[in-house]
Amino acid sequence: MSETDSCDVLIVGGGPGGSSCAWGLRESGLDVLILDKATFPRDKVCAGWITPAVAELLELDLKDYSHGHVLQPISRFRTGLIGGSTLHTEYPETVSYGIRRCEFDHYLLQRCGARARLGESFQSLERTADGWLVNGNLSAKMVIGAGGHFCPVAREINDKHAGDHSVVLAQETEVQLTPEQQQRCRVQPDTPELYFCRDFKGYAWCFLKDGYLNVGIGREGEKQLSTARDEFTEYLDREQRVPRDILGKFKGHAYRLYGLQKRTIIDDALLLIGDAAGLASPQSGEGIRPAIESGLMAADVLQNCQPNFDKGQLQIYQDRLLERFGPWPDEPAHSMLPDVFRQFLGRQLMGTQWFTRKVLLNRWFLQQHLPPLVRS
Ligand SMILES: Cc1cc2nc3c(=O)[nH]c(=O)nc-3n(C[C@H](O)[C@H](O)[C@H](O)COP(=O)(O)OP(=O)(O)OC[C@H]3O[C@@H](n4cnc5c(N)ncnc54)[C@H](O)[C@@H]3O)c2cc1C
Repeated sequence: MSETDSCDVLIVGGGPGGSSCAWGLRESGLDVLILDKATFPRDKVCAGWITPAVAELLELDLKDYSHGHVLQPISRFRTGLIGGSTLHTEYPETVSYGIRRCEFDHYLLQRCGARARLGESFQSLERTADGWLVNGNLSAKMVIGAGGHFCPVAREINDKHAGDHSVVLAQETEVQLTPEQQQRCRVQPDTPELYFCRDFKGYAWCFLKDGYLNVGIGREGEKQLSTARDEFTEYLDREQRVPRDILGKFKGHAYRLYGLQKRTIIDDALLLIGDAAGLASPQSGEGIRPAIESGLMAADVLQNCQPNFDKGQLQIYQDRLLERFGPWPDEPAHSMLPDVFRQFLGRQLMGTQWFTRKVLLNRWFLQQHLPPLVRS
């Protein structure tokens, strides 16, 4: 066991949410410590697609980042249904980037300015007179749950046995292609390909990032993910877009879509950010930007309310989150749209250039309607 340690703010999880929160607190005067069970660089199951808002929020120097890290500009999309016809949509400028999570998360963690205890798992949480005792040896005035979908801090304040309709299960594989494999793969580096399942309960993608091919699929609910994945990879193989033999082993993960079910995200001297708070976009599953935005919102609130981290003081964080991402429903919802309605609409609309550009891409995947986050 490590020696006794203390800090003002303990962030459990050093992913984009946790490291952004620490970065947001770098000039607060608060002593911030990040605890992560992984040693970095570590990988995270993810397509690795970020919108330009992410770079702006974190004041990332993309030119600097591109030295030694994969940064794939994206200015086109190929979209359609699995097994159906496809459309091409082009933009005059770069509208997104492809990154590798093992590189991106490590870079953010290194530059965030906080101390880190890596390779150490969160085990226990006990209330003390002035905050929390974590793992029996680490005292903190404030604890932030940033441990992703399976965040152990989130489990402390949410009913782990409650049904959850908002969970998406996903599988992904990322492989570096040899020059010979790149010749056999028809996916273009600046053109991610998005293919919707015919029941519109999920979508699949192929994404070539500077020689790294990422292929994956995500679906609502627990059933049929592996079957849908196999159908998708067979389709890619049949169409000679991605030969089956160049794909690696698929790895699975999950995330919660925002807005379908209420979550407890604040308590006395405790709050949740990122996937721990269940913030991924309900349309696209984009979770990196909400993780970063919530991390920065939390940093702003803590900076303003220190040294009092009572639940009443932290309420403003929840209010801002709901204002930014929208209200929670009174009752858990299965989906934003009824099945029949979305299948009918989906089939009609997916074939039109207008819907694909204006709604599917601009609004759902690129979130161009969302104004930049204003920090306090
Ligand atoms: C297949 C798939 C594809 C996706 N593609 C995209 C995409 O292209 N773009 C996008 O924006 N989003 C995507 N997402 C969502 C995105 O990956 C997440 O929303 C994002 O990683 C959330 O960041 P986070 O910091 O909240 O959590 P995470 O990135 O999950 O980080 C959590 C950290 O907590 C640590 N941790 C967990 N448990 C413990 C513990 N017990 N003790 C200590 N540390 C712990 C972990 O080691 C990890 O480092 C995808 C998700 C999946 C599953």
